[in-house]
Amino acid sequence: MRFHIITLFPETFDCYLSHSILGRAVENQKIELNFLNPRDFCNDPHKRIDNKPYGGGPGMVMKALPIIRAWEKASAIPFREKLLFTKKRKMKTILFSPGGRKFTNEDAKYFAKNFDDIILINGRYEGIDHRVVEVTGAELISIGDYVLTGGELASMVVIDSVARQIEGVLGKYESLEEERISSHEVYTRPEQFRFHGATYSVPEILLSGHHKKIEEWKKER
Ligand code: SAM
Repeated sequence: MRFHIITLFPETFDCYLSHSILGRAVENQKIELNFLNPRDFCNDPHKRIDNKPYGGGPGMVMKALPIIRAWEKASAIPFREKLLFTKKRKMKTILFSPGGRKFTNEDAKYFAKNFDDIILINGRYEGIDHRVVEVTGAELISIGDYVLTGGELASMVVIDSVARQIEGVLGKYESLEEERISSHEVYTRPEQFRFHGATYSVPEILLSGHHKKIEEWKKER
């Protein structure tokens, strides 16, 4: 799976995507990250990426053409050779917006299964000139009912949740939470500790060795 990330701030991805499971997924070529900065696709000498909104209003709007050119480049980059010759690439374009459809884990599974390339368009300021949607056919996606300052966190959420659906990204495929009986309530050693005079213990059932009852307990959580 290849993620093409169209962002004014590619450096913001480093601290999250180059460590732990995702860092390893990149290293093992389970996922590829391709950054495109719209500023590099600006034709004007001042590299101006935004302008005032038509119809008035506060803030600035990201111009359409630099983003469209970045998108065009992302869609044209040949896939790793092996795949290029064996199958047609399936591509999806997402444009992040707080007003978009809410992203779910079902989407993450669907994207992982059905696409080879995902292009993620990240807005800043007052958002992106809507003609980008007309040209690219992007789906507007929101990651929740709140407004962020930019789409970069949303991109990382999508990359993380899609990547963990790709076989071989997690240590063991079985460790996908949704594939097994899982509880949101988990414990590890020590069995008991004291903190400010109170004692905190692991639920007895988890220490019982009674697998059937443990599975039932997990289902109830
Ligand atoms: N009024 C603008 C709008 O509705 O698009 C707000 C723009 S917001 C300050 C800047 C950018 O952050 C957006 O263009 C979008 O890419 C991203 N963003 C903000 N909240 C988001 C959310 N909940 N989900 C996904 N992206 C979000």
